[in-house]
Amino acid sequence: MIITLNDVNKTYPGAVPLHVLKGINLEIDRGELVAIMGASGSGKSTLLNILGILDNYDTGTYTLNGTLIRDLSENRAAELRNKLIGFVFQSFNLIGYKNAVENVALPLYYQGVGRRQRNRLAMEQLERMGLADRAHHLPGELSGGQKQRVAIARSLITNPALILADEPTGALDSRTSKEVMQVFRDLNAEGMTIVIVTHDPGVAAQCKRVIRISDGLIVPDNTITAAGSTTVTTPDNA
Ligand code: ADP
Ligand code: MG
Repeated sequence: MIITLNDVNKTYPGAVPLHVLKGINLEIDRGELVAIMGASGSGKSTLLNILGILDNYDTGTYTLNGTLIRDLSENRAAELRNKLIGFVFQSFNLIGYKNAVENVALPLYYQGVGRRQRNRLAMEQLERMGLADRAHHLPGELSGGQKQRVAIARSLITNPALILADEPTGALDSRTSKEVMQVFRDLNAEGMTIVIVTHDPGVAAQCKRVIRISDGLIVPDNTITAAGSTTVTTPDNA
């Protein structure tokens, strides 16, 4: 397993503490293409942020690629993130004043890779995404689908063990959304492990496995049909 969560709990403190994850048990194997689905506010992003070592959890255990992820220093967390995980976000998170190739190359800058090599590797990833001719354009000069493909190229440049995507098609129209999902499917066919958080059943249907989160818990598998479509036990837009 690349990801194993045992009884993971997470509460946001506050005047009224919010118990968001109430005992998450989850295993994800290498090579999977998984959708995590659930209503808005059900804790999907919280879960993905824990998986990405961007946030802490309170109790339970999370093991990533054989390493227990708990009480890590910020340096160690960053090191594991940079080594293991590629991130893709709904809002692309590209730097507006850097062109496509510079955006894609950025993670390598943080790894201390020299400018020429990182630009060469970034160009390769852009070519892989069919964007070689957009390499010197700024994000503002790209369509939504192109921006997300630049973001995917950036997520791949460090050669991660898995990609975590939070609503990667949330800002895209349905045709572009299908294109981006096809990119993820192609990467998965090449062996990449991909976890996609989405509230869109159309996106989930293009994944090989659907995990539902509801009321802070994973909905048991037996409510999910073999086709991967779900017997809805909770409304998706509560
Ligand atoms: P989803 O991604 O499924 O929409 P989230 O994981 O973003 O859900 O949020 C789950 C719940 O936790 C929501 O009620 C949200 O308002 C709350 N929440 C999210 N982040 C924080 C935070 N940093 N502090 C306090 N509450 C939060
Ligand atoms: Mg969210």
